Amino acid sequence: MPFNQNGHTVVDESEKVAKSENVMVHRTMTRHTLETLSFDNTYARLPQVFHARLNPTPFSAPPYLVHANPAAAKLIDLDPEQFTRPEFSALFGGSALAPGMEPLAMLYSGHQFGVYVPQLGDGRAILLGEVTNDRGERWDLHLKGAGMTPFSRDGDGRAVLRSTIREYLCCAAMQGLGIPTTQALCLVASEDKVYREQIETGAMVVRMAPSHVRFGMFEVFYYRKQHEHLKTLADYVITHHFPHLRDDGDKYARFFTVVVERTARLIAQWQAVGWAHGVMNTDNMSILGLTLDYGPYGFMDEYDAGFICNHSDHNGRYAFNQQPYIGLWNLSCLAQALVPLVEKTVLKAGLETYQPLFDREYQRQMRAKFGLVDAQPEDDELIRDFMGLLQGSHADYTIVFRELSTFSTVEDATNDRLREHFLSRDQFNEWAARYRDRLRSERSHDDDRRERMNRVNPKYVLRNYLAQTAIEKAQHKDFSEIDRLFTLLQEPFKDQPGMEAYALPPPNWGKHLSVSCSS
Ligand code: AMP
Ligand code: MG
Repeated sequence: MPFNQNGHTVVDESEKVAKSENVMVHRTMTRHTLETLSFDNTYARLPQVFHARLNPTPFSAPPYLVHANPAAAKLIDLDPEQFTRPEFSALFGGSALAPGMEPLAMLYSGHQFGVYVPQLGDGRAILLGEVTNDRGERWDLHLKGAGMTPFSRDGDGRAVLRSTIREYLCCAAMQGLGIPTTQALCLVASEDKVYREQIETGAMVVRMAPSHVRFGMFEVFYYRKQHEHLKTLADYVITHHFPHLRDDGDKYARFFTVVVERTARLIAQWQAVGWAHGVMNTDNMSILGLTLDYGPYGFMDEYDAGFICNHSDHNGRYAFNQQPYIGLWNLSCLAQALVPLVEKTVLKAGLETYQPLFDREYQRQMRAKFGLVDAQPEDDELIRDFMGLLQGSHADYTIVFRELSTFSTVEDATNDRLREHFLSRDQFNEWAARYRDRLRSERSHDDDRRERMNRVNPKYVLRNYLAQTAIEKAQHKDFSEIDRLFTLLQEPFKDQPGMEAYALPPPNWGKHLSVSCSS
């Protein structure tokens, strides 16, 4: 039986169903211990040039568990009761191996800030191996902060507690928001010191995804003119992750089309929730359309279309409003790398589907945020004008959208609480009149709409300052705030009693925290 973080036993959903219907069905659910969890590594069987085989470098001080994620454990049928065992921290903190793991660092290259870098690769992460669950789904387990690899360049191969907490919590937040992401199984730290701008605590995070293959993996073989490896990689990805295309005569072209589609959809979701990745280099782009490589990301507090979350991004290449375009730019790098496998004209046609796909998905998401059911030609302008008002008023993105659900369409409603977020009351009133007419045109019912909107406009997001508070406490060995945020962010759309403070705008100290790549 699973247990929650406070140690109380909770009944698994499937058991509840069985009990309430009083049906004598014995559903066998595999619950692995560390000893019965079995690993494989299909990536290790690819040609040698794809990777460097090596084990994690253990910390010199023993690793200890900071937090672990029962939902992620469930994906690999691992019993969360295993979390408290020292063997768990050892295995997922780089100090022990399990049979079948075959750890390796993956090779890739990529375009960083628009410039091609011929060799990158996992410089501090190690693919431990894959676990196949009861449902036949494969999960890569990737240990970030696992020590130097042949791809470390000038780096030390380590990650710090600060950045691993940010990655761990944001994976949970994205998952809660329904945005495709790598998952994080656990966060393990050690007394070992790691040198950044200051001395910090070393830590490792285990992330999980069906695959960690990046755009940059295709690029490395294209630019090295190793086209046979490029084909091997494409076949590997198609076989394992797009099996429906395996026997398709145009499988490489169709594969590219799917990647375009998933990327467009992913970025539309980022835009709708007000999230910036911060380092959208092609080596940080997942071939499965997952949010990957959490660094200096940020959820917006005050709405600013030009929001730059990465302190090192001086030119704003990865500013919030550039992300849709950068998605396309990155896809065109992938297209270039696929030239040996697919006709150029076909790739070009694939790229041309991106913008309409993105627009359609973004508009769909935004209409839902505004509680609109039909699509009308004037919606675009209505939405754009609202964003302009938000920007001009420095209004809080998350709070205002949540508040928008309280909008009343009754004749003389002033919508005072919402109006207070805007500097110009006249402009707000003018917009509100248009919104009211638009809602009335589709006979929108205030209560129904409120309920619908609250399912798409989160109340809680991982604001930078919230993560920062958890980090500061963790640096004093108090992990309670990590646990609190982790629990909170799993249900970001639900009003959670006693958690009102977490839905407020940041205090002054937390408004413009600087986050850079040095993690
Ligand atoms: P990122 O900007 O985090 O996506 O990293 C870009 C490249 O730098 C990747 O090849 C990483 O593996 C590598 N890298 C980042 N930090 C370190 C580090 N501390 N040690 C070694 N390699 C690193
Ligand atoms: Mg990266």
